[in-house]
Amino acid sequence: MRFAEVIGDPIAHSKSPLIHDFWIRALGLRAEYRAVHVKAADLADYFRSRRLDSEWAGCNVTMPHKEAVLAHVDEADELAARLNAANTIVRRPDGLLVAGNTDVDGVAEPLSRHRIGDYPDHVATYVQIIGAGGAARAAVLGAVKAGYGDFDIFNRSPARADVLAQLAGSPFGKGHPLESLGPVRNPTDGASEQRYSHILINATSMGMHGENPVPVDLSAYYPDTIVFDMVYSPLETSLLAQAVAHGLRTIDGLEMLIGQAAIAFERFFGAAPPRDRDPELRQLLLREAK
Ligand code: NDP
Repeated sequence: MRFAEVIGDPIAHSKSPLIHDFWIRALGLRAEYRAVHVKAADLADYFRSRRLDSEWAGCNVTMPHKEAVLAHVDEADELAARLNAANTIVRRPDGLLVAGNTDVDGVAEPLSRHRIGDYPDHVATYVQIIGAGGAARAAVLGAVKAGYGDFDIFNRSPARADVLAQLAGSPFGKGHPLESLGPVRNPTDGASEQRYSHILINATSMGMHGENPVPVDLSAYYPDTIVFDMVYSPLETSLLAQAVAHGLRTIDGLEMLIGQAAIAFERFFGAAPPRDRDPELRQLLLREAK
């Protein structure tokens, strides 16, 4: 039977099996999706054995292997190569392993649903990203794909934010310390006018259960700002609660999680998942999280 997997260390917390099983059942496919605990030292053995198994469609990759898996595949697609991180490995019919990164589309897809064109008085495409790790890199490329092109990156370690700002290639954007996060770009940064943040993306673990909240006051943000929090445990983070309280638009971490999984599912099983059943899937994921 055709099967796909998710690998990581640890892996028990992964929600990928629930998501993929839901779609396999919904479509009535004869297929399986499993979670496998793979330690860094065992990655080479894992890929050596799976490569020989023609039923194996591929795997999703979670922490801490997103970078390391690139050494075990035959090709990386453009996004995985640019990000130097892969979350989906597909075994092609000829047996070659191709690495991809669906987190970028997981960011681009929900952002595209809230196009700034809906708000014709907004001309800027300015995005603030909090974080400078793998998820923040996907956030930058995802926002570019959704049509936004002007970034500032805020991070606990500002030097890492600077490196990411260079990847973004924004004419004005640069890295900033987390403490300077606020609603308006400082016009001395080189912008010809003050630019309001239209999108604020949290791509750190701040706001997760047991972690400090994102240190930002949203009260002065532009009323049509979209606040996107990648954290999904809890689903309603203090950042999103604050955004709702100020009437701002929100995108939560499950939207991204389901979106990136949908692209991987189609690559593994050759069928598009039934996205009209997302509300039911979200309920299932929330029930299981309790
Ligand atoms: P990384 O470890 O690569 O990066 C972590 C980032 O968070 C860094 O910028 C780090 O800052 C910052 N950070 C961590 N702890 C703190 C803290 N206490 N205070 C301030 N900043 C902090 O992780 P990822 O980029 O892979 O993942 C980041 C988050 O995104 C995770 O919560 C993950 O669950 C989530 N995620 C969600 C997805 C989804 O589908 N919804 C998909 C992928 C990720 P510094 O550089 O200073 O260390």
